[in-house]
Amino acid sequence: MKKTACCLIALLLALPARSAERPNILFIFSDDHAWQAVSAYNSSLIQTPNIDRIAEEGIRFDRCIIPNPLCGPSRATVLTGTHSHINGFWSNSQCTFDGSQITFPKLLQKADYQTAVIGKWHLGSDPTGFDFWEILPGQGDYYNPKMILNGEETKLEGYVTDIITDRSLDWLEKRDPSKPFLLMCHQKAPHRNWQPNGSKLNFDEGKVYPEPDNLFDDYSGRGKGASAQDMSIAKTMHRHDLKLSAPAGLNKEQRAVWDAYYQPRNEAFEKAGLEGDDLVRWKYQRYMHDYLACVSSVDDSVGRLLDYLKENDLEENTIVIYASDQGFFLGEHGWFDKRWIYEESARTPFVMKWPGKIKAATSTKALVSNLDFAETLLDAADLPIPERMQGRSLLPLFDGETPSDWRKGFYFHYYDQPSMHEVPRHHGIVTDRYKLFHCYKPDDYWEMFDLEKDPNEMQSVFDNPEYAPIRKRLEAELAKLREDLEVPDQDPKPNKVKK
Ligand code: CA
Repeated sequence: MKKTACCLIALLLALPARSAERPNILFIFSDDHAWQAVSAYNSSLIQTPNIDRIAEEGIRFDRCIIPNPLCGPSRATVLTGTHSHINGFWSNSQCTFDGSQITFPKLLQKADYQTAVIGKWHLGSDPTGFDFWEILPGQGDYYNPKMILNGEETKLEGYVTDIITDRSLDWLEKRDPSKPFLLMCHQKAPHRNWQPNGSKLNFDEGKVYPEPDNLFDDYSGRGKGASAQDMSIAKTMHRHDLKLSAPAGLNKEQRAVWDAYYQPRNEAFEKAGLEGDDLVRWKYQRYMHDYLACVSSVDDSVGRLLDYLKENDLEENTIVIYASDQGFFLGEHGWFDKRWIYEESARTPFVMKWPGKIKAATSTKALVSNLDFAETLLDAADLPIPERMQGRSLLPLFDGETPSDWRKGFYFHYYDQPSMHEVPRHHGIVTDRYKLFHCYKPDDYWEMFDLEKDPNEMQSVFDNPEYAPIRKRLEAELAKLREDLEVPDQDPKPNKVKK
């Protein structure tokens, strides 16, 4: 009896300490991974069993919108919890990230977290707020990439997704186990130009991929920008995108594996002399093979990281996030790339698990964003959220219910024009059902879509009188968002620092 009472007291004493234990954070971020290529989102293209594990054990966010869907701007928003006009990084080519501003890794580091970022960075300046960082210079290479290790560029042998995973596991192994950790594992893949690992070249066993309904979009029903872009599978994809020429930088063994797969297929293609729609169809199939093979390697990497947590008794108290920096077009509207407010681009896959805090197999359609990641992770670590941050902690959504005061509209702003792919500057509002946006450079026009009736965003209803009352309401909401978020009337200026 006495012994039982002692045990009970010991248990009660242990409980508050345990619940106050701060969670570890494993943040896995990929580059250009479309939600259409994640099986947790019912993909018809590929199985991603390891990413799905996170969704099965945690929560799947069905509407995660990136406010400026481009590599660097998305990363700047993740770090700072702010829109591009606040953090100053609105373009990959014209900006350098100001590393002196407040970021969530800095705040975790101050609170005695061990912090690390490994992989793609792409912000122009060196990482700040990390005890340890190893990054790819710029975009980085798929094969035998250089990485900046201890401040020095070092060429490594192997495939980039494996290397970033190996380095991440190595850091986990060497960390100080007495402190909680934040590890940001940033994959390069499946960024253009989608170079698969040799071991993945036959991963789909010759599968024929279903074409999107609007692969041959004629861009009627929308403004000039949709037809004036330079991001189509038909016109913009180069020979190296299509693997009609082998990439530079492969070693002898890698090149032999590469050629064994591509050479006979390329010869058959050249012989067939395809033209017009048949040529687009062939390009689409080649694009899907290569892109999805890269995704498959990313999914394997997620599996290795999850296995490590399990094998090292870290599963219970570690938050795991998998997300991409934005979405991607997989042939919808005849396109690849991103940048647009349209759903394939602006929406990103985002799943998260935290045993005991997030109910397994939860999903939510609440409007969330990468703008909310910093706030969420600070909240999870029981740290205050700085006023400067513009998102919201996602903790209230963890049971699958949406609080009544959750955001109804989200602000979007793409600035990078003139630039590659010729997507216009545009800003607008995204709601559960509608999008309203203003393209203002180089051409000036508005578009509005009813996602319930037109999920593929093919026919703008901006000038449709039936939608006039909704349009008026959305215009007012957009103006209010711009005011609340302090969006300046003039777009921010380039601030690239020359090294
Ligand atoms: Ca990207």
